[in-house]
Amino acid sequence: MSSLENNLSKLSDLLNRFRATGIANRIAGQDHPGSAGSFETISPVDKSVICSVAQGNAADIDRAAQAAKDAFPAWRDMPALERKKILLNIADAIEARAEEIALCECWDTGQALRFMSKAAIRGAENFRFFADKVTSARDGQTLQSPTLMNVTTRTPIGPAGVITPWNTPFMLSTWKIAPALAAGCTVVHKPAELSPLSARLLVEIAEEAGLPPGVWNTVNGFGEDAGKALCEHPAIRAIAFVGESRTGSLIQKQGADTLKRVHLELGGKNPVIVFDDADLDRALDAVIFMIYSINGERCTSSSRLLIQENIREDFEARLIERVNQIKVGHPLDPDTVIGPLIGEEHFKKVTSYFDIAKEDGATIAAGGETLGNEGYFVRPTLFTDANNDMRIAREEIFGPVLTSISFKDEVEALAIANDTPYGLTGYLWTNDLTRALRFTDKLEAGMIWVNSENVRHLPTPFGGVKASGIGRDGGDWSFEFYMEQKHIGFAMGDHHISQLGA
Ligand code: NAD
Repeated sequence: MSSLENNLSKLSDLLNRFRATGIANRIAGQDHPGSAGSFETISPVDKSVICSVAQGNAADIDRAAQAAKDAFPAWRDMPALERKKILLNIADAIEARAEEIALCECWDTGQALRFMSKAAIRGAENFRFFADKVTSARDGQTLQSPTLMNVTTRTPIGPAGVITPWNTPFMLSTWKIAPALAAGCTVVHKPAELSPLSARLLVEIAEEAGLPPGVWNTVNGFGEDAGKALCEHPAIRAIAFVGESRTGSLIQKQGADTLKRVHLELGGKNPVIVFDDADLDRALDAVIFMIYSINGERCTSSSRLLIQENIREDFEARLIERVNQIKVGHPLDPDTVIGPLIGEEHFKKVTSYFDIAKEDGATIAAGGETLGNEGYFVRPTLFTDANNDMRIAREEIFGPVLTSISFKDEVEALAIANDTPYGLTGYLWTNDLTRALRFTDKLEAGMIWVNSENVRHLPTPFGGVKASGIGRDGGDWSFEFYMEQKHIGFAMGDHHISQLGA
């Protein structure tokens, strides 16, 4: 049996279970049907129906928010070491079921197994990392004055809403939910309607690992219905959102009446800037990895290549040769790099840029084609002869599609890099240290890597500027979002008290 056949046979057993039961909402440790009925989740690999999914609405969100509110005091007050133990159990259980998670994720999202196997393990790491921080989450500072011993403490903000997108949904859900639980918050999770399988596995794993009922509730459904109700619910104190920039703006509006704290991780049109003094072999590897891995359906992908004019021809020629060799195929084939795009609407959007590129006067130097009719497959694509005013350089395509733009010098490179509504990541390739210092200082992005692809280190801040988001995750930054700061001043003696009317 080939590896692909072997993986398909394992997947078939896993899917039978979903086909038999569908995916219910999970509220206070119980399964609930959706108050708005159900919808079907479709595999992008062959457009087949995977299973039915409960379609939640405001009534289900209300039930889940109430469950999260009821469970909050006991979870908040649980001794830190007990809470830490449960989070570590969740991490262990994710690791034990990593293969199952990865196979389901590939079938539901179209992402290649080689990346989703790592993403499942990263989900376990997220839990382990924040479990280790549970005991210090409430730590504050002393800020002494001559008369007062001022101390700060932190307390969990309360029930939090977590809304996640369809790309790498498992990893992103753990990235949001693990710190919320570590802080002592309870959670209502609204997964993306296009890829709900792994969210179901995740909440099950958490409950089996000892998480008390109601601490983590999952309501499936559509954004304008279940998602909106979550943002508007008065018992939910904060919304952690990952998704498109225009949805992020809606989240803020919907949360305004109840004065929600919001954390927004949004889209990007991230530049990778390659100067002629860089290590061009490594730069080439990184350019390819950062746009063609994870189907390019990745917020941190470097979708704009800014290449210095004097090395452009040679670099693009090498790029075209490599891009044409990237394997597009079945996501469960271990050799596959690019699987199908998530679904029909997104497929139409991504492929529409093939015509837009031509209309704008760019050249399709590689790809620019779909593949077969069975699923939503596209060839990895490279646009050359582009400039930064073209739509292919300004809009987030969110697929395996790279736009190459040349620049003369550092001043022009910086101007092009910053000429975008977004500001999530930037990647700089140069061996000139002082240029790297100047450039990174002025580059408008929340995260920048110099002479490297994107390598996440969990204690560092993750987030974007401009239309790419508000707020930061990672390390202690996650706790700043999920916790309230409190100041308490203790008088150290009988200092003068202001007297009125004495
Ligand atoms: P999306 O904004 O369409 O949907 C994200 C989630 O929001 C889904 O669960 C959806 O149901 C929900 N939603 C939609 N409308 C809503 C509303 N009115 N109220 C509440 N919830 C609503 O995004 P998507 O298409 O699922 O994901 C792709 C986008 O996510 C891309 O733009 C990508 O860059 C971005 N993304 C950003 C990051 C990051 O960390 N910055 C990470 C991954 C993805």
